[in-house]
Amino acid sequence: MRLQERLQKELDDLRLADQFRFLRQLTPEGINSRLDGRLLLNLSSNDYLGLNAWPQLRREFYERMEHTADDAFALSATSSRLLTGNHPGYMQLEAAVSKLYNNRESLVFNSGYHANVGILPALTSRRDLILSDKLNHASIIDGIRLSEAEFKRYPHLDFDRLEAVLGRLRHKYDNVIIITESVFSMDGVVADLSRLVELKEKYDALLVVDEAHGVGVFGEQGCGVCEEQGLIDRIDIIIGTFGKAFCSAGAYAIMNKLFRDYLINKMRSLIFTTGLPPVVVNWSRFVLEKTVKMQQNRLHLQSLAEKLREGIRAAGGKTGGESQIVPYISGSNTAAVKLAERLREAGLLVFPIRPPTVPRGSSRVRFSLTAAMTEQDIERILEIL
Ligand code: PMP
Repeated sequence: MRLQERLQKELDDLRLADQFRFLRQLTPEGINSRLDGRLLLNLSSNDYLGLNAWPQLRREFYERMEHTADDAFALSATSSRLLTGNHPGYMQLEAAVSKLYNNRESLVFNSGYHANVGILPALTSRRDLILSDKLNHASIIDGIRLSEAEFKRYPHLDFDRLEAVLGRLRHKYDNVIIITESVFSMDGVVADLSRLVELKEKYDALLVVDEAHGVGVFGEQGCGVCEEQGLIDRIDIIIGTFGKAFCSAGAYAIMNKLFRDYLINKMRSLIFTTGLPPVVVNWSRFVLEKTVKMQQNRLHLQSLAEKLREGIRAAGGKTGGESQIVPYISGSNTAAVKLAERLREAGLLVFPIRPPTVPRGSSRVRFSLTAAMTEQDIERILEIL
């Protein structure tokens, strides 16, 4: 089939299956978002601490422009970090991140996607095995695909099955790497990282944890689930992103010095891309200083989520998880699409989530809460539901 024809057919099939994607223009207004002229409560953002809905914070940052070197607010790194793009903001940000993580080494990347497509391919060889949770994010899967290592997926959070695989296969490989998210973005479930640490220690494996949805939100200082569970020093690589709770762009990974030096030499998505603009890197550091002290906001966010889950269950609905991400499981694709449409008509900005992102028969809408919301917002959601 000719290319144009094949592409058209695939798009037609997606439309028929209610899975056609397109870009909507959305304008943020505080905790709301304007879509087609209507103001909707934004329940689909990753701005978990509500910082984007807080213009005063941006103003405070820009006021620093008055007394800081202009270069700190420059809008381009102009080249890769490996060439001339490694501006001072990077060193300062990495120092701040390291300090938060018990002075472990850290390295900053352009995004969580860059981190995930770059780290595993750089570190692994064909004599290694990667074991990945079945619900891990697409960027992790893409990284695995780019790596030469063999890989297997284990059923979502099924650590007994994972242990069985480790027992059976560990001796066949030079290295085994277990990779998981800490807070799974499709079901809001928090992984028991201590069990994974036990397994990786017992079987002499390495553990990589993607905390994209955990940083800023969990842990006394917002370092994520690894902090909350007291495991910062026992996880080989911890990945955090700046684009979600930290309301910026970019990502970081915590690791040892050997890994850091090696990634700087070998990680293609670090080496072959223009660095982040100084203004973004400096904003990330500014935000980090603030979010360390936002434990009250974190507790508020979790209490909102608990209230929503309780309300859904009390009304006979199906939900789950234990984080700021609250699923409302409707079953079929069509039910999820219809429900999301009806909720949008009623003023709630939510989207349907369908297979292959979630298992067949568990299509859902997902409420992504932020700390800028109030109890009244949750009551409104429940009334509408
Ligand atoms: N990891 C996970 C678990 C994610 O959910 C995402 C983004 N949705 C990423 C990585 C990618 O992060 P970024 O948006 O910074 O590229």
